[in-house]
Amino acid sequence: MKQIALYGKGGIGKSTTSANLSAALVNQGLSVMQIGCDPKRDSTRMLMKGVLIPTVLDLIRERGEQNLSLNDVVFTGYKGVRCVEAGGPEPGVGCAGRGIIATFQLLERLSAFDEDVIVYDVLGDVVCGGFAMPMRKGYAQEIYLVTSGELMSLYAANNICKAIARISQNVKQVCRLGGVICNSRNLPDEEQLVSAFASRVGSKIIAYIPRDGLVQHAELHNQTVIEYAPESDLAARYISLAQAIITNKDFIIPTPLEIEELENIARSYLPKIHQ
Ligand code: ADP
Ligand code: MG
Repeated sequence: MKQIALYGKGGIGKSTTSANLSAALVNQGLSVMQIGCDPKRDSTRMLMKGVLIPTVLDLIRERGEQNLSLNDVVFTGYKGVRCVEAGGPEPGVGCAGRGIIATFQLLERLSAFDEDVIVYDVLGDVVCGGFAMPMRKGYAQEIYLVTSGELMSLYAANNICKAIARISQNVKQVCRLGGVICNSRNLPDEEQLVSAFASRVGSKIIAYIPRDGLVQHAELHNQTVIEYAPESDLAARYISLAQAIITNKDFIIPTPLEIEELENIARSYLPKIHQ
């Protein structure tokens, strides 16, 4: 079983990328489970024909953990992809990462971790205990950062590198960075900037996903790009991402940057007129 996690800033495109990745993987004949680890709870929506499935945390609150079975929390989506949403607490109450911890405990008890590939789609703005959970205890041993060339998203990616480096200090925990997915915001020299960041932390870009209105068209049809436009160039990008992840052998413990270093790299790629 291969367990991978996509981490990145909120709104950067983790769920779009994760859902298309899962769809591409299932089309390669693999069994896949996608676990949304973000209180936004819409990770698996495009795999579920636009339906927001109930979250594990809500179900636990409503029915109690002991009364839940596998079918209550795991939903079958596009071509059999199994979908789970951890959920989060009511805004302003409790720890946002708690849904993730509760979800993992429940899925363990129900022996749900039983697929060729598990894709964790994790909010990476705050890497507190809850959000670091997929990196811990041998769950996701391969981490992929989703970022654009925007400073705030690189900043979040760098923080996730710090978390990986810290967790890796514990020799018993295998948690490695597998690469950086550049989800473009159409900035000038964006791929070069993200590539420079990736190499400075000791990694590389594993896929470049262009900004493409097809994502919104597919969304309006409640589908992933893989389902909505399987012959498109964008679908081909997600298919090669899936291929690159499946065949990846290049895993590292990242060396995070100091904030000044990060800002200097970003500054060096600003168009001349703004410098
Ligand atoms: P996250 O899961 O990181 O919070 P989402 O995957 O929900 O982010 O993406 C946020 C929005 O950005 C989505 O509504 C989607 O339409 C848009 N988006 C993501 N990736 C792309 C892309 N490559 N091209 C165009 N729009 C995109
Ligand atoms: Mg999301």
